[in-house]
Amino acid sequence: MNIHEHQAKDILKSFGVPVPTGFVAYTEKEAEDAANKLGGPVWVVKAQIHAGGRGKGGGVKVVKSVADVKAKFNDIFGMQLVTHQTGAEGKKVQRVYIEEGADIKRELYLSLLVDRGNSRVNVVASTEGGMDIEEVAASHPEKIVAFSIDPVQGVQAYHGRKLAEILGLKDKLVGQAVKLLAGLYKAFLESDMAMLEINPLIVTGDGKLLPLDAKVGFDDNALFRHPAIEALRDKSEEEASELEAAEHSLNYVKLSGNIGCMVNGAGLAMATMDIIQLYGGTPANFLDVGGGATKERVTAAFKIILADTNVKGIFVNIFGGIMRCDIIAEGIIAAAKEVKLSVPLVVRLEGTNVDLGKKILAESGLPIISGDNLADGAAKIVAAVAVLKAA
Ligand code: GDP
Ligand code: MN
Repeated sequence: MNIHEHQAKDILKSFGVPVPTGFVAYTEKEAEDAANKLGGPVWVVKAQIHAGGRGKGGGVKVVKSVADVKAKFNDIFGMQLVTHQTGAEGKKVQRVYIEEGADIKRELYLSLLVDRGNSRVNVVASTEGGMDIEEVAASHPEKIVAFSIDPVQGVQAYHGRKLAEILGLKDKLVGQAVKLLAGLYKAFLESDMAMLEINPLIVTGDGKLLPLDAKVGFDDNALFRHPAIEALRDKSEEEASELEAAEHSLNYVKLSGNIGCMVNGAGLAMATMDIIQLYGGTPANFLDVGGGATKERVTAAFKIILADTNVKGIFVNIFGGIMRCDIIAEGIIAAAKEVKLSVPLVVRLEGTNVDLGKKILAESGLPIISGDNLADGAAKIVAAVAVLKAA
């Protein structure tokens, strides 16, 4: 789960990490009140959306009067903000953050993230802050330095000094880096973050190290331990089809291809996506219907897959282990009838009662194409979609 910048800064603040003061505004009046409370002489008006690159997209404005805070609030609030992370359609700005302006001397990059490779939290730092870190990674990979923190030992002062060295911080700033890293690491662990990115981390004109932006993602599997964090969820920022899927206990991730996939088991779903690619197709989604593929869930899954207008065919790949293939076949038929399926459907069944399952599908009167195995099924759906394209 991701949260907004202002929420991330509130969390960091609660762990003693210094952040600029700011207030959220939903109306011009709130923006004006926030500006007066902050007092100026410089304010920053920031669009709050779950995407980076807001600055370049026109969603971050530095202003020098209360009148301009109001003007920029009106420009930004409700705008369709397009950044390199939102896609071409952009995201509608539904809240704005009014913050005290900072005097920027240097812009640095700092992030903490879980590294599955070494099972530790990695610290990633670069002197090239403020800009796209992906761009730096591509053009100057040597300017991004990472090190990990041993979970048994925890964060130590020497980690902070190492960070200071990487970032070229000297004198008083070294002590600030030590304190900052300790605070960020504590916040990261105690709130079960998966990613914490500060870009830019700045050095101010009066020699302070200050996070100017904060992007935080949490480990969804740990959210039950943090009801206060879960309450920060902003559903309007999330993919509608993914929310719908979650309500039916389906694990669904929307992708950009045209072959819808319905599979039971995450591993089999991954393998199915791989094999579709291998046969020259592109998956429209990842979807794990779980162990109990009932008619209701299969129907919900079909509806979610078909709500994506890119979908030109569906590949159902189910292994009937606990579930029997005949029950699954009946579920697929009922669901296909209910949604009036109009795209090619390839079904590959394997497991308990597979022959009966296949017989039920064959006798259904529906134009269901049967796949004999994973490769055969993938080849058939790729071919069926290709025929549609050619027609
Ligand atoms: P992002 O573009 O979505 O990553 O949004 P950021 O919060 O990182 O803001 C983008 C850029 O706006 C920063 O890199 C800064 O250069 C600039 N910016 C943000 N806050 C201030 C501020 O208080 N003063 C000044 N001068 N610039 C700021
Ligand atoms: Mn940023």
